[in-house]
Amino acid sequence: MSQAVFATHEVFNQSPPFENVDLYAADRPLLEAVGANGGAAAEGELSEFGRLWGSGAMADRGRLANENTPKLRTFDARGHRRDEVEFHPAYHQMMALSAHAGVHHATWTADGKPAGGASEVIRAAKFYMAAQVETGHLCPITMTRASVAALAEQPDLLSRVMPVLGTRSYDPTFTPWWTKRGMTVGMGMTEKQGGTDVRSNMTWAEPDGNAYRITGHKWFMSAPMCDAFLVLAQAEEGLTCFFMPRFAPDGSVNAIHFQRLKDKLGNRSNASSEVEFHGAYAERVGEEGKGIRTIIQMVQLTRQDCAIASAGLMRSGLAHALHHARHRSVFQKHLADQPLMQAVLADMALHVEASIALVMRLCRSFDRAPADPKEAAYMRLLTPAIKYWVCKSAPGFLYEAMECLGGNGYVEEGILARHYREAPVNAIWEGSGNVMCLDVLRALSREPEAVAGIVHELTGETLGLPGASDATAFITKAFSRPDSERVARLAVEKLALLAASAALNAVSPRHAQLFAATRLAANHPGMYGAVDFATKDIGGLLERALP
Ligand SMILES: Cc1cc2nc3c(=O)[nH]c(=O)nc-3n(C[C@H](O)[C@H](O)[C@H](O)COP(=O)(O)OP(=O)(O)OC[C@H]3O[C@@H](n4cnc5c(N)ncnc54)[C@H](O)[C@@H]3O)c2cc1C
Repeated sequence: MSQAVFATHEVFNQSPPFENVDLYAADRPLLEAVGANGGAAAEGELSEFGRLWGSGAMADRGRLANENTPKLRTFDARGHRRDEVEFHPAYHQMMALSAHAGVHHATWTADGKPAGGASEVIRAAKFYMAAQVETGHLCPITMTRASVAALAEQPDLLSRVMPVLGTRSYDPTFTPWWTKRGMTVGMGMTEKQGGTDVRSNMTWAEPDGNAYRITGHKWFMSAPMCDAFLVLAQAEEGLTCFFMPRFAPDGSVNAIHFQRLKDKLGNRSNASSEVEFHGAYAERVGEEGKGIRTIIQMVQLTRQDCAIASAGLMRSGLAHALHHARHRSVFQKHLADQPLMQAVLADMALHVEASIALVMRLCRSFDRAPADPKEAAYMRLLTPAIKYWVCKSAPGFLYEAMECLGGNGYVEEGILARHYREAPVNAIWEGSGNVMCLDVLRALSREPEAVAGIVHELTGETLGLPGASDATAFITKAFSRPDSERVARLAVEKLALLAASAALNAVSPRHAQLFAATRLAANHPGMYGAVDFATKDIGGLLERALP
């Protein structure tokens, strides 16, 4: 028989790659959420970013950086310590492009003050689009951006760091930070005996002239090629925050010894290390004994980014699912025209619309918090609630998105398998689910009146939406129970759903009605698509999601 008989390579009924799209212009819910929260003027800049990150070249970089994972080079061939981690060039390219767009510092002025305007919203839109392509490299990007909030407690140090951190250059050379064109900053809090409970940190700090020497370990310290880390250690007056650079002031490599890299479920382009400090040089950030109060400023911002990234992952899942369904035929009809698939996709589109509206509303509160106490209260109460709801919803969502592509969704050549493995980490790190609920309760107990004011505002913003007034009553009652911790997940989820309904109402009132009807007035069924939407609403949701 001739070779041709066996040729199975006439490929048809497969969707073309979802590449070379403008991730901004193709995403009306994003565009409208950015506009509703003050960022409309940045449309040109965001579209340029969207075209670059939606290109086939960026998709390749994302794949390559995850297939070729970082390698720890502990020693050189002659036995000298190196403590360097090597990354694939694609990782460095993505770092450079994110830095070039200012994603690692654009919310700060040159001297490290909040930039104001809509800088949080605009930067969040970029972070959201980059997350649709590759989230591993965003770990050092988010930590660097967030570190400025903690460094603000030590103005002399901040003023030395900002001229390097505040450039749009990415400089991966392994040299002292003060000699570089740009820098990145990581964080080390988690130790073997405690991650949530950082008060149990055993790493200790001893004064050495104007600086300190730190001895101990960290069990998770991501992005180990950062130029410096904010670490917690016990000093004379208690747990304290320190700035620990990779090089000591005399130019010698600091005593930061990496033990190994974590073998992680996802987030594979990014290295996460186990590390020991052998009398490592460090400078104090903030007062001795006030370490948690100092580093929590940074953590608040990384929590915000966790929610943005999870929303981005879900957006990517939705876009790939919808794109595939519009090209793939089953039983002589495109999947996108099959009523059951339409119900699944529309319900998913509604979830993403609400998530992005909510996340952008949160970012507006970060923009306005320095000058507006009400927005500051919104930020404090809603950051943990939104991180909880958005991040925890991502793994289930991405599983469903993967299933929309059938078998193709499950294989590693496509992006959805990677997104699925990536999805849980945003909920786990920087305060896992229960910890976020406890944080909401803490905000309530510390500022009950401000929080009551926020719930009152949300009530006004959701007036007339199905189930909204019952949700408000439920939240108020649950939070005032003496055993509120027992029902905290119930109440925090309701709070996030109420806030999402309010945020969506400001962008798309019809979709806020649908969202509230299926999520507030009733418990959303366990599976996407178990809803009864009118044909007109399905068409509207899907057209907005991807024209
Ligand atoms: C990929 C990755 C990267 C990371 N990078 C870093 C990094 O760069 N720097 C860093 O410092 N850390 C990092 N971490 C660590 C991460 O922040 C911690 O794993 C996280 O904070 C949880 O701490 P833990 O692992 O000690 O779990 P635990 O603190 O033991 O918590 C276990 C579980 O108990 C729950 N829990 C805790 N307290 C309570 C309570 N009072 N009531 C009810 N439930 C509770 C938590 O929600 C969690 O589900 C990283 C983790 C991962 C997975």
